[in-house]
Formats: sequence, C-alpha cells, structure tokens
Amino acid sequence: MEEDALLLGVDVGATTTAAGVVTRDGEVLIEQRVSTHRDGKGRVLPTIVGLIAAVRAEAEGRGRALAAIGVGVPGAVDPVSGRVGEPVPHVPELAGRALAAELTERFGLPVFVDNDVNALALGEWMFGAGRGAGSLVVLAPGTSFGAGIVLDGRVVRGAAGFGGELGHAPVKFDGGPCWCGGRGCLALYASGRGIAEAARARVAGLSDAPLLAAAGGDSRAITAPLVFRAAREGDPVASSVVDEACRALGAMLGTVVNGLNPEVVVITGGVAESLVPLAAQILARAGEYAFGRALAATRVTIVPSDKRTSMRGAAALAIYEIERTARSR
Ligand SMILES: [Zn+2]
Repeated sequence: MEEDALLLGVDVGATTTAAGVVTRDGEVLIEQRVSTHRDGKGRVLPTIVGLIAAVRAEAEGRGRALAAIGVGVPGAVDPVSGRVGEPVPHVPELAGRALAAELTERFGLPVFVDNDVNALALGEWMFGAGRGAGSLVVLAPGTSFGAGIVLDGRVVRGAAGFGGELGHAPVKFDGGPCWCGGRGCLALYASGRGIAEAARARVAGLSDAPLLAAAGGDSRAITAPLVFRAAREGDPVASSVVDEACRALGAMLGTVVNGLNPEVVVITGGVAESLVPLAAQILARAGEYAFGRALAATRVTIVPSDKRTSMRGAAALAIYEIERTARSR
C-alpha cells in the first residue's frame, strides 16, 4: 500500500453510523455521520451504502482516491466465510450477510468487515494508546460490553469469530443470568445496561433512596451516568453498584493480565468517561486478582471514546488486512 493511501473507515453503531476518510497515520480528513435507522428499521444496508458513496464522492471531489474500506459492525463476524454472525444487536438485518463481498462488488474496492471492537483494538494498537506495543487488550463498556485482543501483532478472532468477547466472560461463576444466555458475565456488572439494571433492582422498595429521587421517582429513568453521579455524591445504593463495577473490572483485569500478559490494556467505550476518576480504585481491585509483577508490567489506560476513534479503528482494520495479505503472499 502506498504511503499516502487513504482508507475509508465505517462504524455501524446502535444510533449513529459514521464514515471517515483516514490517512495511514490515523488522521481523519473527512467525516460524515447519519442516524443508523435513517432509512427505517431493518434498512441499515442502504444507509451504509449511501454513506460510503457520499464520503467517497467528497474525497474524490478533493482529488483523492481511496485504497480500501473497513467496516466495524456490532456483532461477531465469521473469519472464514466473512459472514456477519448472530446476534447483531441493533442491526439484526445484517445477520448472515456476506457484507464485505456485497460492498466489494458495489464499490469495486477491497472491503473488510469485522466486529466493531476488534476494529477499535486495531485502531488503538496502530494509532492510539497501544501504538508500538506487541500486545494489547481493549475493554469497551458501553450500553453492552465489547472487547478485543491483539496478541503478538495479530487480532484474536477465534475459530468462529467470537475471540475476545471478554464482556461475556464470567467474573462471578454463580452470578445471575445475562442477556447473552450466560451467567455472571462482566457485562452484568460493568456495562451501562448492567449498571442501570443493578441500580434499578436495588432501589426497589427503597422509596426514600436519593438515587430514586434523582431519577424523578421513576426507577426506569435510572441510567449508568446517573448512578456514577449519585455515587460521587455519596449515595449508598449507587456507591455499592459502582464499587461492584470496579471489582468486576478488577477481576477481568486479573484474568486478562494472568491469562494473556499484554503490554497494554485500554479501557474505552461509552462508560469510560465515568471510570476515569475511578482508575486508582479499579487498579487496586485488579491487584487483588492479578500476579503483581505481571500487573506492574501492564500499562492500563482509560480512554473516553468518540466516533473518530471508531472510524480510525475501521480504517486500521483495512490497513491490517491489506498488510497481512501482502505478508502471506
Ligand atoms: Zn453475557
């Protein structure tokens, strides 16, 4: 690939789908964002196609051609068939589709599709907090909990594309049922949905709980940001939920550090901003589970996420795949 090649990175999100023209150094030159359901529920494909066409036209209007397209989707992608697996939260219409092949045919460019957090991990590894590291793990608590692993310069996809799904690995073996069908998953304790649901369950029957008052008396209005804010203000119910989130993240850091011993762990995603002031607490919890020397050798950083990071990740996916193919020739 030429040094001045440009990539188009697309991030298909729950509410917003974003596409950006990205340089090989990770600089976003052009970007556009649209509502994922702009063309109606179940119609994300025409939205993705329209967005790619619009951003490509803008790049070509500036006299710049694109080398390849990378797309991150919120689900597992089979690394052999290239088909999007099931489930695909928020955009179930993509399940089973050979999205890369369809877009390649449509645009006449190489197109690579992967799980959005695998793409994010490649972006952090190439351009972000893990730049220059040989191995990195990304933990991305948002509404749900995504994760991605890069080990010795390779993204870990596993046999069926589920590699790196640490958000649905158990941190409590006798824990409650998770919406993924498992139990005791990290997502139950440390994702936005898990935190909000835990807090709602704990205020039930506590009509004088300040957290409930902060939600206008309606427990359904309790959100994860509200729980973090109430915990900072000393609310005991919110504090117990946040403490459990820190313990769950600490336990997962113990699993990651002892199991993979990566150089860098990046905690990002929609919940990351609320976790920044809790960094010392999370690391102290990790110390209860991880080998001390292994943890000391791991750089753990919390990076609040934005759409630009996701677009960069999708572009990094395209660069990674092109370079990998070139190496294996
Ligand atoms: Zn789960």
